Amino acid sequence: MPATDCRTAASGMAWSGGTFSARWRPDLGVAAADAALSAADADLPKHCSFAVVGAGWSGAYAAWRLAVDTSSVNASSVCVFEANGRVGGRIFSVHGLPSFADLAVDVGGYRFQTRQRLPADLVFFALKLPTQCYDWECAAKCEGTTCYVVKDAFGNNAGYATAIETMLGQVEAAGGPGRQVHLAARLTSIEAAPAAGRAASRLIFAGGRSVTASKVLLNLPSNAIEYLSRDSTLLGSSSAAVRRLLGAVTTIPMVKVYAWYDDAWWSTKLGLMEGAFTAATDGAPLEGRYHDGPQRCVVGRDTAGDPVYSGKKIAYGNCSGALEVYYGIARPYYAKLMPSPLQPLTVATRGTSSLAAAQLIGDVHAALMARHAKALASAGVAPGAVSPPQTVVLANWISAGRYTPGIGRLLGGDLDRALLRKPLPDYDLFLANQDFGYETGWAAGSLAMAEKVLQAELGLPAPRWLDAEWYEKRVVAEP
Ligand SMILES: Cc1cc2nc3c(=O)[nH]c(=O)nc-3n(C[C@H](O)[C@H](O)[C@H](O)COP(=O)(O)OP(=O)(O)OC[C@H]3O[C@@H](n4cnc5c(N)ncnc54)[C@H](O)[C@@H]3O)c2cc1C
Repeated sequence: MPATDCRTAASGMAWSGGTFSARWRPDLGVAAADAALSAADADLPKHCSFAVVGAGWSGAYAAWRLAVDTSSVNASSVCVFEANGRVGGRIFSVHGLPSFADLAVDVGGYRFQTRQRLPADLVFFALKLPTQCYDWECAAKCEGTTCYVVKDAFGNNAGYATAIETMLGQVEAAGGPGRQVHLAARLTSIEAAPAAGRAASRLIFAGGRSVTASKVLLNLPSNAIEYLSRDSTLLGSSSAAVRRLLGAVTTIPMVKVYAWYDDAWWSTKLGLMEGAFTAATDGAPLEGRYHDGPQRCVVGRDTAGDPVYSGKKIAYGNCSGALEVYYGIARPYYAKLMPSPLQPLTVATRGTSSLAAAQLIGDVHAALMARHAKALASAGVAPGAVSPPQTVVLANWISAGRYTPGIGRLLGGDLDRALLRKPLPDYDLFLANQDFGYETGWAAGSLAMAEKVLQAELGLPAPRWLDAEWYEKRVVAEP
């Protein structure tokens, strides 16, 4: 147990049953889970034609484009190595949380805009995932436009990692009996591998395991690159300009908090389905949105007496659900609860013996009740009559951690990106990550950089399913 005594999420489990999703495992501490995963995936392949390091948006997309979408590399020879026990990186869709049952919650990135043709066209037309507006009934504007999320059967966000898991699942399926996605494989160093090819690399992973690769795409954020061995070709053999740019990333630390209530009072009592709220309190600061967070509304009973749920949120309905309490720049109140630099997630459940968990739940509830006291009174509800949340889920995306950076931005322009995407002229080593990408704060920036690598460095044709004008302007025309 971490010092705060709030339980932390163990890493999601290895490939099983066709998903790579992150499942809440209260029975395992982080260290135990990592050890279990390392043991589970001790055998790495000896050689990969194309290796991807990092299973975030860029990494999963590049592997899928090469192995599935274009079949330009034999899928059995495409390898994806991921340090964590789950895929997704800063997309982190958690399943199986206490009270949430089968609903997912996204504690990292979660929505996309239609003008962001990557990922929009990918999700709509290539992966054909069900989607819905992020806002309640598409009523409000999200960043001045309409945002979408992947949809579940209850009309909630099914988790943005679904798209990444779908792509990697297809890579696995195309690869045949071997494994393509290797979890708990943390890259520590990169060496030249002349025996495997003039421009090939040897990837060294934690535990001393090593793999040669003819071509490598690094989907690593800036702070993960900092942790690579100084002898790595990427750092030791690159130009001064590349080394400067690799560190020229500013990162905004972010926090996301959700509270699960058995009675979703903001919608059941107040009919608040849309809009944002804030409050600066001595305890838990608030910066949330009423339309953000999964809900389940009971509309009847089946013949066995079990609840029948609606396929969407219902104003003044019989609903339980999670409210987004805070989504914004990291605050000391929440940051102090981060259990480890490796894990962004803290889960506090009511009724646990933990003082920190009880305090977090109490503080969040008190802040919400104070902020909504007038509205509750007008609705004839005494704040004291509202039961505190069952569970509070908190994710700290703080760049000091190795795998938990916030929102990164390269202090440079498109010419710098062009230099970074193939940082070593003599090696087939490429880089694509949002930290160095085109659209700060959005997965779109990471995807555009990955597609630029595929187009400019690997000669892949334009995706058939992608808007042609957007591709010409945002990929081909980039330097
Ligand atoms: C709180 C929050 C909310 C956000 N909201 C949105 C949103 O709504 N919409 C949106 O589009 N974007 C959003 N973003 C941004 C979005 O999450 C990122 O742009 C995107 O996920 C970055 O993807 P990436 O592939 O570039 O990098 P990452 O997601 O950082 O992927 C890098 C991968 O590399 C792995 N890795 C790290 N080190 C190693 C190593 N040594 N060896 C092997 N693997 C390693 C990591 O574990 C990770 O899986 C949000 C970000 C945050 C923090």
